[in-house]
Amino acid sequence: MEAGFNRNREESLRRARELRERIADYLEARTRIRSGRELRDQLQQRRDRILRLLGGREEDWKDWHWHMRNRISDVSVLRRILNLSDQDAESIARVGKTHRWSISPYYASLIDPENRKDPVYLQAVPTHHELSGEGDPDPMSEETTSPTASTTRRYPDRMIIKVTNQCPMYCRHCQRRRAIGEVDRSTPKEHLVRAISYIRENPEIRDVLITGGDALMLSDSALDWLLTELDKIPHVEIKRLGTRTLATLPQRITESLCEMLERHHPLYVNTQFNSPIEVTDEAAEAADRLSRAGIPLGNQAVLLQGVNNDEHIMKKLNHELLKIRIRPYYLFHPKCVRGTVHFRCRVEEGLHIMEKLRGYTSGLAVPTYIINAPGGLGKTPMLPEYLLSWDAESITIRTWENKVIKYPNYRGRLHTESAASESARPTA
Ligand SMILES: *Cc1c(COP(=O)(O)O)cnc(C)c1O
Repeated sequence: MEAGFNRNREESLRRARELRERIADYLEARTRIRSGRELRDQLQQRRDRILRLLGGREEDWKDWHWHMRNRISDVSVLRRILNLSDQDAESIARVGKTHRWSISPYYASLIDPENRKDPVYLQAVPTHHELSGEGDPDPMSEETTSPTASTTRRYPDRMIIKVTNQCPMYCRHCQRRRAIGEVDRSTPKEHLVRAISYIRENPEIRDVLITGGDALMLSDSALDWLLTELDKIPHVEIKRLGTRTLATLPQRITESLCEMLERHHPLYVNTQFNSPIEVTDEAAEAADRLSRAGIPLGNQAVLLQGVNNDEHIMKKLNHELLKIRIRPYYLFHPKCVRGTVHFRCRVEEGLHIMEKLRGYTSGLAVPTYIINAPGGLGKTPMLPEYLLSWDAESITIRTWENKVIKYPNYRGRLHTESAASESARPTA
């Protein structure tokens, strides 16, 4: 007995050492990859500097309206915040003539002013790459999958309403950049009224996504009206809001917004964090307010070259999100949208990241990797291959550690036997 116990114990300890070894590279890498919360002191200094430059007071930083009024969209202002070369500044000004850009002071405070390769810089500040004519302005064919103005229907039971083209920060990788015109524009109320009628007349629509732009650029009262209209439709079972404000302007998630949202359950919020730096104390507070209002939070990251196309960065991002109760939902392969092709990655890179998540970390930290099929044909999951082959009675699979195993494949007899007594007997 004792000898057997010791042998088992020894075996367990050997396996535990082996398991730890499997993530030795990550344990080393994670200290180099900083989250916004770990950079707290630096972010605070940048915040104070930006407040001084823009003539804001401490209280202003907490006010999302102040951030919107003071969005940075002028090269000379940006130059006072970031250390830009003449060449950088010239190129931003040139791109800015055709591609809109704007950065909330909050999001600007996340950028390392000295680092041109900073993942937050890359997402927010234009580069000459955007002028490349490569790619399609609308690869998702949203313009031809729009049953009423400002809606997209691509699936049997759910659809999208786009309520605004405004955002606190215009992502350089935006898939809807064709809709980001020179002026901020809320969707006209007639469009919304028509979208609501369409949903009312189509009882198979049970899930409505409110997005944009950024859905939370709407006022609380405008959103309250829209959610109330949707609540009146009995077949609308759930509603979802798409917003990047948790990453770009967490001050938008006020107590009063949450009190309003809480009256419209079941409501889900999906957001987009792409870099661990975006997970700051303010983002954590915003996520906590939404969670306390009973709203489940999901993250829809975009795989972006230079930002997060790395197994360790992606793992750290997902861990930081789970710590603030945001569940990684999707990882989107970057689309071939004109002006964003410099962010593109190979599919192998995404698959490699998925391979290094499953088994290596909590299943909760593993999103579904998605390629959006061109032509509006929908989200298509991409998975590393775990099923190697099969025959009549078994399949051959490989585990997360690449151990190849034959696994029996047959159906129990419970429902196929006529005599109940027979069915309970295991197969010989
Ligand atoms: C992404 C998307 C949805 C939602 O897809 P889920 O897989 O249910 O999250 C719905 N409609 C359109 C047009 C979409 O692009």
